[in-house]
Amino acid sequence: MHEKCGVVGISTADRDVARPLYYSLYALQHRGQESAGIVTHDGFQQYEHVEMGLVGDAFDEGDLDSLNGSNGIGHVRYPTSGSVNNCCAQPFSVSFKSGSLGLAHNGNLINTDEIREELAALGHAFTSDGDTEVIAHDLARNLLEEDLVRAVKRTMSRIHGSYSLTITHDETVLGVRDPQGNRPLCIGELDDGYVLASESAAIDTLDGELVRDVRPGELVVLHDDGSGFDTYQLVETEQTAHCFFEHVYFARPDSVIDDELVYEVRRDLGGALWEESGIETDVVMPVPDSGRAFASGYADAAPEGVDFAEGLMKNRYVGRTFIMPTQDERERAVRLKLNPIKSTVEGKTVTVIDDSIVRGTTSSQLVELLYEAGAEEVHVRIGAPPIVAPCYMGIDMASREELIAADKSVDEIREEIKADSLSYLSIGAIADALGTSDSNLCLGCVTGEYPYDIEGEQTDREVERPAVGHSSADD
Ligand code: SF4
Repeated sequence: MHEKCGVVGISTADRDVARPLYYSLYALQHRGQESAGIVTHDGFQQYEHVEMGLVGDAFDEGDLDSLNGSNGIGHVRYPTSGSVNNCCAQPFSVSFKSGSLGLAHNGNLINTDEIREELAALGHAFTSDGDTEVIAHDLARNLLEEDLVRAVKRTMSRIHGSYSLTITHDETVLGVRDPQGNRPLCIGELDDGYVLASESAAIDTLDGELVRDVRPGELVVLHDDGSGFDTYQLVETEQTAHCFFEHVYFARPDSVIDDELVYEVRRDLGGALWEESGIETDVVMPVPDSGRAFASGYADAAPEGVDFAEGLMKNRYVGRTFIMPTQDERERAVRLKLNPIKSTVEGKTVTVIDDSIVRGTTSSQLVELLYEAGAEEVHVRIGAPPIVAPCYMGIDMASREELIAADKSVDEIREEIKADSLSYLSIGAIADALGTSDSNLCLGCVTGEYPYDIEGEQTDREVERPAVGHSSADD
């Protein structure tokens, strides 16, 4: 599974923002490794640099020096909508009659084709097949007739799906979160300005202070002199659809999302996993790195005598450059990535804890590795419910056919991965750990019922399209 993108936006009093944006993108690198980009504005002109590759490879000193201005946005991308090439890398930037726009998007729209066709019929020419360009064109068109806030509001009434956006309109930086708040976005304060970022870890990197999350349906406009920000609740929302997998897997453990430190949520989920399906074994171990906080919470909740230990070592140099399009190659990748520590495992009963099972390939390889290393029993505990359906909201998961839980019971999965026992966490435990009701979460991939109206799929609610008439914007 891959998160789709990370976004950031910064306004300072008079300091160039290229470097702070660059450091923020480093902090958000886990959210996208395909391309990285920055757009800045110095009050006269817009500057941009967008490259394929990791943040460290996409920019050199000269690139950063050429990005002038104390206002700007940045983006890291893992593509799930639009082609894998640099025409879809972001931020997307465009100049038009009433100024210049830069747009960075995390999420996925589900009515892009409809809006693209409509705008194309009105003469808009598109250079990519991504949804960000569609938002940019729609916003540019609205800005010809409306002020900034009304234009954003009108665009929000037309686009449907998940989005956290950072935008530059000339030297003004703004951030918007979709009315269901599916993807995260937060506000931070710097000594000399303000920052918007997908995760608070980016704010920490800049020695800033987290102010709060951007609310679902809210527009935040940073003052271009770094002195503050204005907010506009453009769409009121009664029911949110936060992606619970942000807390379970995607976000950095040191980030705070919806007032919860992700690391502590994962530890709580581990504790809940013990409460729901704990089994006394000699040793509890995480699948590194994602299972670590779960395993520590699980071991802490277990009676004394259950050891928490690192039993699997990860090869950190097998990254996304390892090409593994076939099942056979994916199986090999597990052996390249993980190696058991024999002394932790040999002659022991073992509980191994991970955050999720997607195809099942990693889990069955892991169980096999642990038996080969001398484990007497291998029990698998998963800190999320079974993934039974794909994600349409911007997570690169797998197709329904590839998901092991789409057509297999937990018992059948246990047999396939050859574990002594297998348990997943319940949806109720996830909602409890997040301090919310399950009706305020997106659970599409674990229930097959989505918070958005997706063709051919069931919805878990009557989703109201954000409408201008339902807003309480400060206009
Ligand atoms: S379907 Fe799953 S991964 Fe996608 S947004 Fe919803 S909870 Fe997150």
